[in-house]
Amino acid sequence: METKLFIGNKFVPARSGETVTIKNPYDHSVVSTVHSAGASDVDDAVSAASAAFKTWRRTSPAERSRLMNRLADLVDEKATALARLETLAMGAPAVIAKHGAHTLAQYLRYYAGWTDKLAGELFPDADEGVYRLVSYEPLGVCAGIAAWNATFLFVAWKIAPAIAAGNTFIFKASEKSPLGVLALGKLVVEAGFPPGVINFVNGTGEAGQRLASHLGIAKISFTGSTETGRLVQIAAASSNLKRCTLELGGKSAAIVFDDAYIDDALGHLSDGFLFNTTQVCAATTRLLVQDTIADSFVTKLKDRFEAVLARAGDPDAPGTFLGPVADEAQFNRIMGFLEQAAKQGIQLLTGGGRHGEQGYFVQPTILIDPPLDSVAYREEIFGPVLCVRRFHTEEEAVDLANDTTYGLAAAVYTADISRALRVSGELRAGSVGINQGVVPDIRVPFGGLKGSGYGRESGRAGLLSYLDSKTVSIRAIAR
Ligand code: NAD
Repeated sequence: METKLFIGNKFVPARSGETVTIKNPYDHSVVSTVHSAGASDVDDAVSAASAAFKTWRRTSPAERSRLMNRLADLVDEKATALARLETLAMGAPAVIAKHGAHTLAQYLRYYAGWTDKLAGELFPDADEGVYRLVSYEPLGVCAGIAAWNATFLFVAWKIAPAIAAGNTFIFKASEKSPLGVLALGKLVVEAGFPPGVINFVNGTGEAGQRLASHLGIAKISFTGSTETGRLVQIAAASSNLKRCTLELGGKSAAIVFDDAYIDDALGHLSDGFLFNTTQVCAATTRLLVQDTIADSFVTKLKDRFEAVLARAGDPDAPGTFLGPVADEAQFNRIMGFLEQAAKQGIQLLTGGGRHGEQGYFVQPTILIDPPLDSVAYREEIFGPVLCVRRFHTEEEAVDLANDTTYGLAAAVYTADISRALRVSGELRAGSVGINQGVVPDIRVPFGGLKGSGYGRESGRAGLLSYLDSKTVSIRAIAR
């Protein structure tokens, strides 16, 4: 297990002398103690990335693409070992963590294919005698700060488009899940990347603040909570006005109409909802069900939630679907929400507490009709807790869904395509799933509105966010 910082293609101890201890959320054993970057370590990473930028930006698209494809192959080859490090650190079931590693490989290949397609534009004006040439250029040193729930996906969203566009990168994983990313460091070297193109600094919020306020960094892409996102934007604005992409929290709604394919919807709203123990930013944690079917729908959902417990267990074991939540702090946070809901007298249909004696397992929980102003209904819990309310009309459903400070995702379950399109047009969210939840896809933009942040990752939009246009006006001298 690598535990140091990965800067300039070398694993180096943190100059800060600080460390972070990683504990297994399943059996509470110490997994590892990793070096934690301080300000001077971040400065070292910026120096390495700045030096690398001078040549990387001019490296041919073919060579950038070759290295990215090579790294993709290595990530695929080592997916099981990489995934295990995530499982040990934050409890993601092996199959989910492995899927994350393969997704990273796909993103590397996808953006490798973009390196030679970064065309510009020409605006000829023969009358005026001026030809305006627009080209797209990399920004410089970019940085990413990530949450812990899907680290490989965040590496994919941030590093792959950035380096394809000719930027160099410094990535800080969450202090809860740095091990998989550090193991990638070795693969970066093996793939043949020049030193400094990709750097990994472990660390806490202190390293994150240093990245966000660093004068040598041109862009920061942040995935995490809304509170921290705000601090990142403030630091970015008060340093060098670096541009930000903010992928923040959510409290997304799923609307189930009475003409929905009920069994299919139940599957998405039970197993689909509980995927990764609902530590998923786009999870539809507010379920709005049409009153005509609400009672029977919710009774069936309860059965499915309870059945999932039979597949809870050691996340390292094949067949485990429901793992523990990431750590003690996350567990206590979720329990705090549940205790508060109990004090308020909110009806509990199922769950509501700890599952088992060992590991930070939370019972899949359904809260019925929480008041619209209750904390459980309004705030992101980031765990397996579903709030259910009923509605009568389509208009009421849309109003309820939009009554949130967030705007990341939404889902609509109905057999009526006209209604699906009408309602999805009314929902204030960056992504809407019809007859399914929102699953980010490599080809299309993903990101939020309102308190869920701004900027988009994936697809062409993700690539453009790492490029700046430059206009060169050329005056043809008259003969
Ligand atoms: P968090 O905000 O606590 O931490 C995220 C990252 O920010 C970590 O790497 C942390 O070290 C760093 N950090 C902490 N303080 C900082 C500071 N002052 N300045 C700079 N960086 C700092 O979030 P979390 O608990 O790790 O993750 C859960 C949150 O992430 C949830 O709100 C979830 O919805 C969100 N999330 C969003 C998306 C998305 O794409 N929109 C995806 C996954 C998770």
